[in-house]
Amino acid sequence: MKPKNMFIIILISIFSIAISIAVYTVISTGSYSKKTNNQFTFYYQTKEQFKIVNKIINQHIDKTASVFFPTESRNSKVKVYLKNKNEAKLDSILSQRSSINGYYLNNKIILRTDRAIKEGPGGNQVIFAKPDAVKTFYHEYVHHLLLKTINKELPRWFEEGLAEHFAHQIIGQPSEKIKPLGFEVITIDENWTKYPSDELYPSSEFYIKKIISRWGEKSIKETIISISEGDSFITALQKSTGQKYTTVINELSK
Ligand SMILES: [Zn+2]
Repeated sequence: MKPKNMFIIILISIFSIAISIAVYTVISTGSYSKKTNNQFTFYYQTKEQFKIVNKIINQHIDKTASVFFPTESRNSKVKVYLKNKNEAKLDSILSQRSSINGYYLNNKIILRTDRAIKEGPGGNQVIFAKPDAVKTFYHEYVHHLLLKTINKELPRWFEEGLAEHFAHQIIGQPSEKIKPLGFEVITIDENWTKYPSDELYPSSEFYIKKIISRWGEKSIKETIISISEGDSFITALQKSTGQKYTTVINELSK
C-alpha cells in the first residue's frame, strides 16, 4: 500500500472514532436544557419536564426548609436531573428497579419522570402513569439538607419520616389514612428490608408528626442542630424534648 493511501485510511479511522465518541457522549449524557434558580440547577429535556421544574420552583421551598434546617445547609448548591424513560434506563440506580422514583447522591437529585411499575403483594403489578417527581424532589432534598447539616448516619425512620413530612408540608397531605406500624418495628433498621416501603415510609412520617404535635416543630430542628454539634441521636432527642429517651419512646408508642 502506498504511504499516501495508508495516511488517508488512518485519517478516516481517527475521524470515525471521534464521531463515534461524540455520538456516544450525546446519547449517554443526553442533551439537557438547564435552568438555575437560587441554589438549584435543573437539567431537563422535554416540555413536560419543564412544567415539573416550574412547579417545583414556584413553591416556597426555603420557607418550609427553614423550619427544620439551618441556613448554611440551605445555601449549598444542588443539581437536579429529570430523567425520562430512556434516560432512566441509562441511570445505574433508576435502572435497577422501576419502583425507584428518585434518589440523592453527591449534591445531585435524580428524578424519574416516566411511568413506574411497582410490584404489589402477591406479585401483582401496579402501574403508576407518572411518579410524582415534584413530591420526590422535596423528599430527596431533605436527604441533601441533612447531609449538609449532619455528616453522620441518622436512624432510618427519622430521616425518611422527616423527608416524607417535609414533602407533604409543601404539596399537601395525603388523603388516605394509614394504620402505622409499631414504633418498635420501624426503629429496627433490618426491618427496612422486611416490610413494604409503602408501610415503612408513612409510618415513619406518622411518628415524626407525633413528635411535632407533642414537642413542636422546633424539637426537630433542635435535634438536628444538636446532632450536628456532636450529640448522639438519643442525647439530641432528649435535649430537644426535655424528656428521657424512654419517656419519648413511651409517648410515641401510645
Ligand atoms: Zn428517602
